[in-house]
Amino acid sequence: MQIAIANSISRMFGAVSHLFYPHTCAGCGSDILSPESLICTHCFADLPYTRFELHNNNPVEKIFWGRLPLTAATSEFYFAKSSLIQQLVHQFKYKSNIETGHFLGTIMGKSLMNSPRFKTIDVIIPLPLSIHKEQKRGFNQANILCQGISESTGLPVLNESVIRQRYTDTQTRKHRIERWKNVEGSFVVTDPESLRDKHILLVDDVVTTGATLEACGSQLLLIDGVKLSIATLAYATK
Ligand SMILES: [Zn+2]
Repeated sequence: MQIAIANSISRMFGAVSHLFYPHTCAGCGSDILSPESLICTHCFADLPYTRFELHNNNPVEKIFWGRLPLTAATSEFYFAKSSLIQQLVHQFKYKSNIETGHFLGTIMGKSLMNSPRFKTIDVIIPLPLSIHKEQKRGFNQANILCQGISESTGLPVLNESVIRQRYTDTQTRKHRIERWKNVEGSFVVTDPESLRDKHILLVDDVVTTGATLEACGSQLLLIDGVKLSIATLAYATK
């Protein structure tokens, strides 16, 4: 009962606040949109969806061929230059607009729910950000996307199961740099036992070469019985 009252009060405030702060589409400025959406239905329909989630051997899966044995992989959008999606990603990553990231995550979650290829996912794990980037940005964008995916799918997010460490000794550094060019730091699974026999969805914002996802995913695949899939918000050609 108290929750119902709190909800209706918050809805009233939401409605009133729109009188003072009009809720307009981030794409075209139209004010015809639902309160929980950041963009109108026209802009929503015009987003560059890949629909990769429905197809095996899609371009994202091909990135990982011969590198990581994945169950499935997808990106929600083509990262088209000067498009609304590029603008939304920019607001999210560089202007710290968390609400935008969460909204994009919910779109990802709905697509994953509609794909039989992602039906057996048990847990969602955000790709950890490199230490200096997280310190600079103040948040991990992959984790925000995961929260949105979780809202749409009901799947749990494990954001402390994998951590990223700086290299410690020179030996490790030399070995790792040869193996994972352009990957900063090494990935450590904190509690492998809790992930045993799970189908894990590893999430990041944009996939290009896939080097960082590969470095992290290969550590997760060392756990007994783990199946791994990957989902990113955007797919960028090199
Ligand atoms: Zn619009």
